[in-house]
Amino acid sequence: MSPKNPDVKIEDLIGVGEKLKHSFHKIGIFYLRDLIYFLPRKILNLENVISISKAKTLENQSVVIKARVLDLSIIRTKFKRMWIIEALLEDKTGAIRAVWFNQPFIHKNLIRNDEYVFYGQISTNQNKIFLNSPEVYFSSGIFPIYRQTKNLSSKRISKIISKILKPSLMPPDILPKEVIATNNLLDFFSAARAVHAPQSESEFARGRYRFLFEELFTFALTNQFIKNQFEKEKSYKIKIERAYLSNIISKLPFRLTADQKKTLKEVTDDLSSPRPMNRLIQGDVGSGKTIIAFLACVLAIKNGYKSIFMAPTEILCDQHFQTFKNLAKILKLPNLKIALISGKKKDEPKDANLFVGTHALINKKINNLALIVIDEQQRFGVEQRNTLLEGSGHMPHYLSLSATPIPRSLFHVIFSSCELSQIMEKPSGREKIKTFLVPEEKRKSSYAFVDSLIKKGQQVFVVCPLIEQNTEFSIQNAGERKAVNEEMERLKKTILGKRKIAILHGRLSAAEKQITMEKFKNKKIDILVSTSVVEVGIDIKNASVIIIEDADSFGLAQLHQFRGRVGRGEIQSYCLIFSSKLFNPISKQRLKAFVQNDDGFELANFDLKLRGPGAFFDTDQSGFRGINPLWFENGQMLKDATSSARRILPEIDKHPILREKIKALANLKRLE
Ligand code: ADP
Ligand code: MG
Repeated sequence: MSPKNPDVKIEDLIGVGEKLKHSFHKIGIFYLRDLIYFLPRKILNLENVISISKAKTLENQSVVIKARVLDLSIIRTKFKRMWIIEALLEDKTGAIRAVWFNQPFIHKNLIRNDEYVFYGQISTNQNKIFLNSPEVYFSSGIFPIYRQTKNLSSKRISKIISKILKPSLMPPDILPKEVIATNNLLDFFSAARAVHAPQSESEFARGRYRFLFEELFTFALTNQFIKNQFEKEKSYKIKIERAYLSNIISKLPFRLTADQKKTLKEVTDDLSSPRPMNRLIQGDVGSGKTIIAFLACVLAIKNGYKSIFMAPTEILCDQHFQTFKNLAKILKLPNLKIALISGKKKDEPKDANLFVGTHALINKKINNLALIVIDEQQRFGVEQRNTLLEGSGHMPHYLSLSATPIPRSLFHVIFSSCELSQIMEKPSGREKIKTFLVPEEKRKSSYAFVDSLIKKGQQVFVVCPLIEQNTEFSIQNAGERKAVNEEMERLKKTILGKRKIAILHGRLSAAEKQITMEKFKNKKIDILVSTSVVEVGIDIKNASVIIIEDADSFGLAQLHQFRGRVGRGEIQSYCLIFSSKLFNPISKQRLKAFVQNDDGFELANFDLKLRGPGAFFDTDQSGFRGINPLWFENGQMLKDATSSARRILPEIDKHPILREKIKALANLKRLE
């Protein structure tokens, strides 16, 4: 291990073998540096140890006790073949039973007569009080909790990180000294120690602040850097023929909303200016962003240029490809030649001028590329946006589409390089989606209702958190979560069993996914049981019901995206959510908020508030990618980080490490 080397590979660390290396790679950790930036989701403060006699009075609350294991047993139930581990715990004030379900390793790890710290919920079963599945620690203290996977428990991650928390192993601090001083931040090493091995909650808070600050600072700096570059660049000037445009619009099967018209005007003004456009269209799910971006592509192509339309998933690319081909027919655009380039699939006419694809498109050389559309921008980091620059003499125009709710007031602070168009109103004729949190005892009758809608010719999505049981442990208590495969089998035994049911998930091949989506679109499937692969963008007008299983395992922003899969036509649509975790007051509160609220922005805010200060965001669940909603939590940090970024930008060459990082983020290779 060479000191001060940021590129120490994870497998070169002591205690990391082949198996662990793969587990780390799976979660995107390749270097020591990645490991330090793998921040805990939250901390668990187990300093508040109470006596067993006190704990017993705190039913349904989480408690910390320090106790000796008097007795220990393990049995396997006949029914369901479940492991049940029981321990009798004792301190000076009394004794209590602890019970674990399906965690046989607990039995292996506990030693009779040894003392441990237990953290769990006081529960009752048939009037008997017990400690429910407590976590076990060797001592009291403050513990970082990491996002865990099958082979990497939070404790294991913590152990490995604690070994590398030495000044000699730290990669160089990316923040300039003056930024650290002006903003009273912890230096990199102190911050790393504060979040990964905190001695107190306030120390953790300071470390956390520094990491969030750094993230926001580099994001703002990258944006300002891009803006500077854009200002130096020449664009392809696109002449807007108003008569041509209004003729096309008149052929659309619907009338554009006022917000869509306003947005289109803003986009066309940019396209005809000598500076490259860098604009984001923000609009809630179903607000009709696609058509505006499509029209922009058509205008560029009318001027003899080419356009790219990028989307984050193959399913979404297929859908755009079909939609655009269809529009080309309806709008009578014989010169529009559309190519699909997504993953392994290619459908590319020789004289193609509109390229639809996933980020596989990044590597494609396209001459006369005047416009790049990036759909679902929240899924792309800034990093992907400018890779496409290389090779073209001019800078293409950029148009991003996003449903991520960012308050307008904060938008320009963060995205200083970007202009904003907002589509607030939904197309008219849309009925409000009716959302229900369905209690288990009403499952049967709700299925009967769903069946009656299918009878009328409508279609249904069912979303589950997992693909298969027992294969994914990234979600806590995965064993209790619903999986696509089992759910389909279960549905077959209900009233819905006579309907045509199919499954969709990320492990199917691209071709299989495409065929299934096609069938669903053509109404050959009534019920599509899927994972979160249907989260973004999918547009099936005839789907009127989305059932979400284990709804508590998704973030509110993500649930809102799911809900946006229905209600895209004029039929009354329903979102039915189920959860077995309603005994948890926070789960219940979140899901209730989701039922009562159909505004993506308010839901995102609500999620933030509930997580409360102190937690890091679990970006996997947040529905935000690229931007971190925690930046909005603290107005002062927002101001300080962006103004520091502005101050550093002119002298960025004095800070080579930072400069390299920013350039990598902006990916401005051609502009060297
Ligand atoms: P999103 O903004 O979520 O990407 P889409 O662009 O996919 O939404 O639009 C959702 C659906 O609404 C599509 O089927 C689209 O054809 C339709 N749509 C778009 N604009 C209008 C409009 N002005 N009136 C009626 N339907 C519209
Ligand atoms: Mg969309």
